[in-house]
Amino acid sequence: MLDKYKDLMEDCSMCNDQCVYGCPAFTINRTTTVYPGRKVYLARCIIKNEIELDENVQDVLYQCCSCGLCKTFCLYGIKGKPRDPVPLIQEIRHEIIRKGIKSDFVKEAEMRIKEFGNLYGDVSNVLKEVKAINKSGKNEGIIYLVDAEVLALSPEIPKAAIQLMNKKNVKPIISDMLETGYDIKAIGFLDEAASIAKNTADYLNNLSASKLIVSSPKAFYALTEWYKEINIEINKEVILETDFFRNLLIVHHSEYKLRPLDIQNFIKNEGLVVYHDGSFMARYLKKFDTPRMLVKPLFTRFEELRTSREEARPLAPAVYPLGLSEDYLKKLANNRIADIMELKPDYVVTSDSLSYAALKKYWEKDKVLSIPEALLMSFVDMEK
Ligand code: SF4
Ligand code: SF4
Repeated sequence: MLDKYKDLMEDCSMCNDQCVYGCPAFTINRTTTVYPGRKVYLARCIIKNEIELDENVQDVLYQCCSCGLCKTFCLYGIKGKPRDPVPLIQEIRHEIIRKGIKSDFVKEAEMRIKEFGNLYGDVSNVLKEVKAINKSGKNEGIIYLVDAEVLALSPEIPKAAIQLMNKKNVKPIISDMLETGYDIKAIGFLDEAASIAKNTADYLNNLSASKLIVSSPKAFYALTEWYKEINIEINKEVILETDFFRNLLIVHHSEYKLRPLDIQNFIKNEGLVVYHDGSFMARYLKKFDTPRMLVKPLFTRFEELRTSREEARPLAPAVYPLGLSEDYLKKLANNRIADIMELKPDYVVTSDSLSYAALKKYWEKDKVLSIPEALLMSFVDMEK
């Protein structure tokens, strides 16, 4: 299984760690041990049984927020073959857990997976609240899957999304399955993740609907890419929420050009909006334009942050922050908030729930919006 990482394990770090200054783990914890290439080297030692495993070794492998910036800045990218340490780091976490090494944070995660089927605990009441909002519109065979992470960290996002869908006469079927399994795989519980993925696919495939809207790029990546890798099929057209809104709301648009767009029934808000793009899955999916197409026309001024798109620095981890301390998370957020504050925005719009929750916690709560919230706040109901 680990053969596919042979090239990576042989030459990662031979480059003198060219990607290290892009790595937020190093920016926060200034030790060479957490360099991306050193984590790959550690993985190689583990595979070759050259190092004794203990919780300290395990801890180093969780000093990674899965942001994917090392791949973006990898020296081998010049030749078109960037190395990507993230999948190897995730699989080695699994190897360590399989050998029975479990720090307290790993045990806690394992308990939640067993008890709740996700990493965030009981989100059933939030799901009920979200369902209660879904009141009007036609059911046209569209399923809406809101993952447990989104429900736990940012229930405001699906609530706004559903209100917007209802206003445009769409009443989706809200999925009772809340987990694709992707985060569970990423933190090292591969077998549990595969079993959750199978159950979720069976449930979704049995619903009579042809379209499946997913609330996050991570869920989209899981269902369209990762499921293929593990031979799980989804018999629906999987649509990312932002793409769904683009098709539902934008009257005239160009796929390739960013320019003032004709969005029916929307007003412009006075002020400067900054778009923070987590860019985690976008780096893999190469999906950068749609969120900007939706956000830009809603405000009188729009700015990009100092690093954006492919090179965007993270504000929060890409996956469940297992092993990352509160202090680490705060520093990660504050590094990015410093870039935001330089621009003095009236609003920040962000696309992923971990960044959204971190911005609300460490910055100004009232200035943070998700894309559905920004759209909802600008929507004028012509029929009233
Ligand atoms: S994914 Fe991000 S945090 Fe992890 S090693 Fe690469 S750059 Fe560092
Ligand atoms: S990911 Fe690329 S740039 Fe970073 S250490 Fe490995 S080979 Fe070097």
